[in-house]
Amino acid sequence: MVQPKAQATTCPYCGVGCGVLARASGSASIEPVSGDPDHPANFGRLCIKGSSLAETLGDQNRLRAPEVDGKRVGWDEALDAITRRLATVRAQHGPEAIAFYLSGQLLTEDYYVANKLAKGFLGTPHVDTNSRLCMSSAVASYKRAFGADVVPGCYEDLELADLLVLVGSNTAWNHPVLYQRIKAAGEGRPNRKIIVIDPRRTATCEIADLHLQLHPGTDAYLFNGLLSWLAATGAVAEDWVQERASGMDAAVAAAKASAPSPREVAEVCDLAEADVEAFYRLFADTQRTVTLYSQGINQSVRGTDQGSAIINCHLATGRVGLPGASPFSITGQPNAMGGREVGGLANQLAAHTDYETPGARDCVQAFWNSPELPEAAGMKAVEMFDAVASGAIQAIWIMATNPVVSMPDAERVKAALANCPLVIVSDCVDHTDTLDLAHIKLPAQGWSEKDGTVTNSERRLSRQRGLLPAVGESRPDWWALAQVGQRLGFKTAFDYPNPAAVFREHAALSAQTVKLGGGFDISALAELSDQAYRDLTPLQWPVTHARPLGTARQFGQGRFRTPDGRARFHSVALPVHAGGPAADAGKNRHEDPLSQSRPNAESTPGSFYFNTGRLRDQWHTMSRTGRSPRLWQHTSESFLAMAPADADRMGVADGQFVRVSGAAGQLVLRLRRDSGQRQGEVFAPIHWNEQWTGAGRVGGVIRPSCDPASGQPAFKHSRVDIEPV
Ligand code: SF4
Repeated sequence: MVQPKAQATTCPYCGVGCGVLARASGSASIEPVSGDPDHPANFGRLCIKGSSLAETLGDQNRLRAPEVDGKRVGWDEALDAITRRLATVRAQHGPEAIAFYLSGQLLTEDYYVANKLAKGFLGTPHVDTNSRLCMSSAVASYKRAFGADVVPGCYEDLELADLLVLVGSNTAWNHPVLYQRIKAAGEGRPNRKIIVIDPRRTATCEIADLHLQLHPGTDAYLFNGLLSWLAATGAVAEDWVQERASGMDAAVAAAKASAPSPREVAEVCDLAEADVEAFYRLFADTQRTVTLYSQGINQSVRGTDQGSAIINCHLATGRVGLPGASPFSITGQPNAMGGREVGGLANQLAAHTDYETPGARDCVQAFWNSPELPEAAGMKAVEMFDAVASGAIQAIWIMATNPVVSMPDAERVKAALANCPLVIVSDCVDHTDTLDLAHIKLPAQGWSEKDGTVTNSERRLSRQRGLLPAVGESRPDWWALAQVGQRLGFKTAFDYPNPAAVFREHAALSAQTVKLGGGFDISALAELSDQAYRDLTPLQWPVTHARPLGTARQFGQGRFRTPDGRARFHSVALPVHAGGPAADAGKNRHEDPLSQSRPNAESTPGSFYFNTGRLRDQWHTMSRTGRSPRLWQHTSESFLAMAPADADRMGVADGQFVRVSGAAGQLVLRLRRDSGQRQGEVFAPIHWNEQWTGAGRVGGVIRPSCDPASGQPAFKHSRVDIEPV
């Protein structure tokens, strides 16, 4: 028998976006996959999650047919029910009573149709996504500085850099193939330096020349201090700044006010002054410097300011969009970037425009020929679920995500959904904590079954390709959304024969919005034939008629997407740290955990900062990686990592259960002594939930404190009390 040819597709796990070669083996499985040697993200490499993909598939535990109110039905009945119930909510309560909560796991085509249906045809602005939890602070700081949400650099820069500063990023576990590339690029280059800035000593520190194990949430002080130092030591690229940027004097003044010298920075960040100086000297002296940052920066009450403080230092030295020199935010999810491209965040409209972009509403409405379009931004994730709880939102459609586990104050999210009159959930598995609360369940196609595109952290569009037949009656998400659009009476607007047609429309819209100042442009792909879409090879946007092969870097010429073409420094003003506790400490559910006094072993012996994150071999809430026995071998149960000195002080032994009590609830975890933890700080992985262990969710204890600019919740430094069970 002739073997089917291996197809090039894209790993669905992290934002690295590795190319995978995969081949069907029968009708319900694929052969073990290999890395695609021609894909520019990974050149054949894969991490264990990627190489285990074949083990996570199959038709077990799949949602096989639509269900309405607990009864299995056909698609027509389910789609009619959705259309009728959404129309009723809209008629009785207005369009703003409807919300969509999307996911960085969706393909760009799914995201595009969801955004169009919600904003253009149902008229609700309330479209947000689990990417709000991932990188929305980075988006806000890019827009502040560059006038657009654009990552200036590319993965090659991580190899070209002579100094790589990894901030709040356990790259070795969370972006493993990039870590492999970074490590390999250092071989034989003794002068190349790597600095890791992280409150935990993680696996990434193995390649660090210097680890700055700072106090959580103090990164902006460290980078404000760097800006002060650059200005004070004459290390600013004066000519570049004068010609290409605005606002440096004010930013330097703000930096000096909060972080005037390495000594003060060392004190606030709880670092050795000599280490702070060593970092500053290396940064000042190394032209080819990349600062790579992720959730440790973004998931903070001051995530946007932390991003701005980093970007300010790159602007001051003219290191933006040059080979081996850029500030580089790396996304967690495989298609967080694609969601940004279509406008899938509540503050966006479409195709990288937002409600403040002059002319954007008229442009998008005319392009979609839609009956209406909201006039102002919608609610971001935390506000959205608050509105579900209050009854302001009466209907929510959740796609490819599990907010009952992943949101902060997760018990409240669960209660809100349990009381919501209409919860629609599209997913490919038959059971998640969120799916269990749905009135209408829609079976979605999963990885290896569906066709579409994703965009990785370096702006590279890649195809995910269908290899296997659909399981049961599952269908692509874009199709289900378009069917509802048609049933609402908008036959032409949602008449898509295939995902290629959706993609062409998305590309054509970018050709319109880029004229208004949007950063996203794939206009050269608007005329792709179905065959060319099937054959599409990885490309970095912008992809224009002038640059049909894509664009590796942006802004290297010093022209930005601001009205005057100049980059903008942002003055990062910071409060005096470690002041007394706020008067209402512990009472306000949105309170800034950094505004309270630091945990103190004598006065508050059980009080800790609570940090959360991913493990190497699991993904999100384990609905897919949990199916692979190989991926359980790394870590088989959840835990709470604590510094040995703290464990001794509290009298708890390795393996003993402890109760973790936060502002939003409690969780019981097994204690793990970990010398990589700072004293006064503990860490737990995010993945476990009731589906897998019944052991509770970390989101259930975390207060929903958010960054005021981005709305991103602070998962990295909430406050908890710990006691032995
Ligand atoms: Fe998949 Fe990320 Fe691993 Fe690449 S690094 S194989 S994208 S999980």
